[in-house]
Amino acid sequence: MPGKQPVERPVEAGAAEDGTEEGLGGLTPEELQQGQEAALALEDMMALSAQTLVHAEVDQLYQEVRPLGQGRYGRVLLVTHRQKGTPLALKQLPKPSTSLRGFLYEFCVGLSLGTHPAIVAAYGIGIESAHSYSFLTEPVLHGDLITFIQPKVGLPQPAAQRCAAQLASALEHIHSRGLVYRDLKPENVLVCDPACRRVKLADFGHTRPRGTLLRLAGPPIPYTAPELCAPPPLPEGLPIQPALDAWALGVLVFCLLTGYFPWDQPLVEADPFYEDFLIWQASGQPQDRPQPWFGLAPAADELLWGLLDPHPRRRSPVGSIKGYLGRPWKQLEREAEELGKGAEDGQ
Ligand code: ADP
Ligand code: MG
Repeated sequence: MPGKQPVERPVEAGAAEDGTEEGLGGLTPEELQQGQEAALALEDMMALSAQTLVHAEVDQLYQEVRPLGQGRYGRVLLVTHRQKGTPLALKQLPKPSTSLRGFLYEFCVGLSLGTHPAIVAAYGIGIESAHSYSFLTEPVLHGDLITFIQPKVGLPQPAAQRCAAQLASALEHIHSRGLVYRDLKPENVLVCDPACRRVKLADFGHTRPRGTLLRLAGPPIPYTAPELCAPPPLPEGLPIQPALDAWALGVLVFCLLTGYFPWDQPLVEADPFYEDFLIWQASGQPQDRPQPWFGLAPAADELLWGLLDPHPRRRSPVGSIKGYLGRPWKQLEREAEELGKGAEDGQ
């Protein structure tokens, strides 16, 4: 989130005199340490990157080919290197809305994570121009996932499973580095081919070390986990955990399978769809299944109940997806599979 300065500081060791998890906002000392190590490593990398920024206007070095996308914070252009002709994606963040620190943070997080096959590869080139900061990544040329999700339908089941598996792997990698991604949504998932076989996660503007204290900065969206909507456990905010990403992954998988959001925001008082989901989770009765969930097969129910557990400590980790691959996630596909089996048995 370049330029934006939310209430944001790491939980300090010794926050609780007795060292209990309560005093650490629910974090264990090991989790706290992992987040602090990630924060220190990033600070070092940012200090080095600040010294090696290229000071130039973008068009001196690169030829603009076409826009690739526009987000809330920056625009992304397809450019070619003026001497070598190499195609590159250039993310440009305007100075009026981006601090140097915010820019360096996003640049360095991307650089430290970009070795994973489902994460956009970053080139270690940061540029400071008169009116903007920019950095370069690999261009991914089939747009973002939002254009592939057909409203009220979603994606075909094999594509949805492939996509879910790759994103879960990317998020596991981010979590293993002591970081929380915090911005999973289709607009930040780039598609590498027309059949949506390979996807890559982009946009690390919101990524922060585990344990960073945060408050909700605007109205919740479907991907916002309920613990972020509730009053924070510490006066300074909620210490962020990978469970935030597990929730967002559950919502995204639901969208991939149905072409609907499961709810607008996870607030019982404000959102009847969310309230219906909680009633169904509590009773487990088929007659309580909310209407948007009708098209899902039992394996998808089980997977999503785990990822969408309202209690972050009970919520399944993103890697739980691996246990559900290759089984039907959509009802129609399940019926087709059963019909196929029946035909085989009848032979
Ligand atoms: P913001 O931080 O403003 O949300 P993003 O990094 O998400 O910016 O980029 C905005 C949009 O640009 C994305 O939603 C995507 O459509 C496109 N985009 C971003 N990075 C790339 C890339 N490496 N290759 C192709 N398109 C990209
Ligand atoms: Mg974005």
